[in-house]
Amino acid sequence: GEDGTMSIAGIEATQESFPLCMRQLYKALKKDHHLTHGGRRQLQLYLKGIGLPLDQALVFWKTEFTKHPKCSAEKFEKDYAYGIRHAYGKEGKRVNYTPHACGQCIAADPGVKDAHGCPFKTLTSGVKDNGARLHELLGTLKISGAKSHAIVEKATNMHYQIACGMTFAAIHDGVEIEAGVHTPHQYFHESRKILAP
Ligand code: SF4
Repeated sequence: GEDGTMSIAGIEATQESFPLCMRQLYKALKKDHHLTHGGRRQLQLYLKGIGLPLDQALVFWKTEFTKHPKCSAEKFEKDYAYGIRHAYGKEGKRVNYTPHACGQCIAADPGVKDAHGCPFKTLTSGVKDNGARLHELLGTLKISGAKSHAIVEKATNMHYQIACGMTFAAIHDGVEIEAGVHTPHQYFHESRKILAP
């Protein structure tokens, strides 16, 4: 829950409940052992939103980042630990930042080196592949055929959150989020209600 009860092992064990944006970021982090600033911020605040406490967040990020050959423990402490404490309101203005809403993820303008943003937008907007990459990604969630086409069409028509809600329904036995998808951590909590009630 949001009271800080998520563990590092729990993050790995609940991937099935991550929305597409966070699956993408998590995958990039595990593969590259690094995320650019926008990605760190989006994923850090989301993990806070799904209940990862600060002390666990520091361990989680340090473990991943220091797998990168150019990131020593000292470099991590110097360059990255502050950002995590900041996300939890322990540095700077000490604001307890809320996780990004979908609108913020959608409004982000990630470059080629970035993994953040909303994939329903980044994989369709300005991409001239008839939704091939999004189809492929939906295929990895075992969504195929007509459902995948309908989702890609929504995304192509810039209805990103609706496309995300359709994706949720497709992988939760047709159960929809009644209120719609508004934040990535809300998507997660709705999924846990169904998959681990
Ligand atoms: Fe993430 Fe929201 Fe986009 Fe879904 S609609 S992928 S939760 S940003």
